[in-house]
Amino acid sequence: METYRNYIGGQWVESASGRFMPNTTPANRDDIIGQVPLSTKEEALAAVASAHEAFESWRAVPAPKRGDIVLRAWRIMEERKDAIGRMLSREEGKILPEALGEVQKTLNCLEYLGGEGRRMSGVSRESELSRNYAYTRKVPLGAVGLITPWNFPSSMITRKCAPALAVGCPVVIKPASQTPLSALALAVLAEEAGFPRGVINVITGSANEIGKELTTNPLVRKISFTGSTEVGKVLLSQCSSTVKKVSMELGGHAPFIVFDDADIDEAVVGAMQSKFRNTGQTCVCANRLFVHEKIYEEFVKKFSYAVSEIKVGDGFDKDVTSGPLIDENSFEKVEEHVQDAIKNGAKLEVGGHQHKLGGNFYQPTVLSNVNIKSKITHEETFGPVAPIYKFSSDEEVIKMANDTPYGLASYFYSRDIGRIWKVAEALEYGIVGVNTGLPSKAEIPFGGVKESGLGREGSKYGVDDFLEIKYVNIAGI
Ligand code: NAP
Repeated sequence: METYRNYIGGQWVESASGRFMPNTTPANRDDIIGQVPLSTKEEALAAVASAHEAFESWRAVPAPKRGDIVLRAWRIMEERKDAIGRMLSREEGKILPEALGEVQKTLNCLEYLGGEGRRMSGVSRESELSRNYAYTRKVPLGAVGLITPWNFPSSMITRKCAPALAVGCPVVIKPASQTPLSALALAVLAEEAGFPRGVINVITGSANEIGKELTTNPLVRKISFTGSTEVGKVLLSQCSSTVKKVSMELGGHAPFIVFDDADIDEAVVGAMQSKFRNTGQTCVCANRLFVHEKIYEEFVKKFSYAVSEIKVGDGFDKDVTSGPLIDENSFEKVEEHVQDAIKNGAKLEVGGHQHKLGGNFYQPTVLSNVNIKSKITHEETFGPVAPIYKFSSDEEVIKMANDTPYGLASYFYSRDIGRIWKVAEALEYGIVGVNTGLPSKAEIPFGGVKESGLGREGSKYGVDDFLEIKYVNIAGI
């Protein structure tokens, strides 16, 4: 079994406590891939100190040169993308083609967002006074703490650190405990790409201790978090003690609406992509499918057939199209949501039980006629379960879709341009996919409203979130 180390201040550092966490594969709860340091406050303090120390010299590197180093990391990763994808598939459980797709997303973030440093710009204004000059500059915040989830263990990190590094902010990365190797692999690439000491730090271990230090240490000027709304709220309140900037990419509860004028076959394809990617474990997964009464039977039939064709298994097997859930807790939540929906009157169309492979494998499931009182209507399931609801008017479905504290992604299928315009405006979500189940890209602003988060990632807006606006007014010269 391989034993890994933290990456702090340009050095590979042993676990200070001498304690480790096992890294297992979701496909087999007993298969331990390796162990990583169970780091505590001590390592968090060291990583923050090293990032802070690196700040002045890193921000002084001309932006195009910083971008060159990010692009060097991109090139090295491009050469090793197959190996990185295989490791990601093993520790996260997603099928190999999806893992390779995520590595491509990681590369896109490095390439596109890494170049943003040279596009930082401010404004200048003419003054009503003579010899008076007013301008703004965008300046990097300082050391930033990045806390990331397990479901996209590589791209969630680079969507944060590529823009942070490009604009001059050193980073301390705390990856999810289920998927630390993808983060450590990025540290290896960073070292080879030639980032100066302290600009990138990766520490694995105790979420509470590391999180507390990152969110309360005044040397950390921003926390960028992706994860559950529940943890996001804790971090938000911890960040208030030092008035840090925050970006919060939190949970979602996406509606997926199929209107009666939709292309039903296309809608089935979109629903399959949106619902079952990564075994239903994405923040933008369709969680509630609303189907117009006129096409309800046809959609349920076609969609259930497509779901019944999903091949569940180990993500490395060629024919497999869906992997395991991440762990036992996730499995239990999925099971609880399905049983509760059935108890409340839902009809089980497909699946509904543990898969015959056992462990973390769950059958892809479709539930129709779901009662809105069910837990699945109100909570994020994070699994391969599609609850379907019937609606009869635009007004009714818009109300149902918006009836949630979440506001990340939403989807709908329609061919009526008037309806498309009206519904896209009415949905209270940060992302609206019309006639598509896969709207996200490095170039677009990704993020939610309401309890799905604060700020945006990707695009120039995601870059701005690592910058402060400095206004300078010069008089008397
Ligand atoms: P999570 O339990 O909130 O964990 C996310 C990260 O926070 C992990 O690194 C975790 O570390 C850490 N963490 C947990 N408790 C902490 C604490 N008290 N202080 C500091 N850090 C703490 O979420 P998850 O289960 O990994 O991911 C699933 C959730 O993420 C879903 O709700 C999903 O919707 C959301 N998500 C959102 C987006 C988006 O862009 N909006 C993208 C992906 C996922 P440990 O692993 O060590 O506990």
